[in-house]
Amino acid sequence: MSDIQLVTFDLDNTLWDVMKTIVRAEKMLRAWMSENTPRALDIYLSDAASRIREEVVAQYPEQRFDLSFLRTQVLFHCMRESGLSDARAEAAAQQAFEVFFVGRNDVALFDNARSVLAELSASYTLFALTNGNANIDRAGIGEFFSGAVSSADVGASKPDLLMFTTVLDRAGVGADRAVHIGDHLSDDILGANQAGMRSIWFNHRGEFSNDGESQPTAEVHELDQLPNAIAAL
Ligand SMILES: [Mg+2]
Repeated sequence: MSDIQLVTFDLDNTLWDVMKTIVRAEKMLRAWMSENTPRALDIYLSDAASRIREEVVAQYPEQRFDLSFLRTQVLFHCMRESGLSDARAEAAAQQAFEVFFVGRNDVALFDNARSVLAELSASYTLFALTNGNANIDRAGIGEFFSGAVSSADVGASKPDLLMFTTVLDRAGVGADRAVHIGDHLSDDILGANQAGMRSIWFNHRGEFSNDGESQPTAEVHELDQLPNAIAAL
């Protein structure tokens, strides 16, 4: 049996396919805007949108890791430029973001994700550690986790050391008793290694790893290999 106490999980592309999720959420958002704020949708789909996004990021540099905030602000400016008053633009942006966020959390879990999380949560403390804005409760997997740390919470993103030290502090577990699991060699594996944690690379697509700093402690190709891989650390 391993001496691991804490298992931290990347979410996007580790527990579900993020591209499929975002594409569907974006479709839902556009359908809602087409119905409710068609002129704002024209702006949202035009070249102006990238200018608006740049302005929002420049205006709120300290919130650049808060993807939900940024998206809501972009929507607000699209609404306002379409002619809505500030108050109506803000209300419409909130509503539109909520439509997007329902889709963002309507994830199709990878095979065995739920049963593996259930099994691991019986033996270890589980925390989510994500650069994205998915919400584990709304994604239906909150029951398996003791908590979640996101880039929006920390004001940094993996592989930044602060992400890893924050989740270790929050869980109250030392780096030497913790393992991070993720699909991304730099964000997840390099980041965990630099924090002194062990790391397991979820190499879902059978990629080749390089050596050196982003060498994982172990590697799995399917989620159901995780319980044994963690026990063997
Ligand atoms: Mg990922």
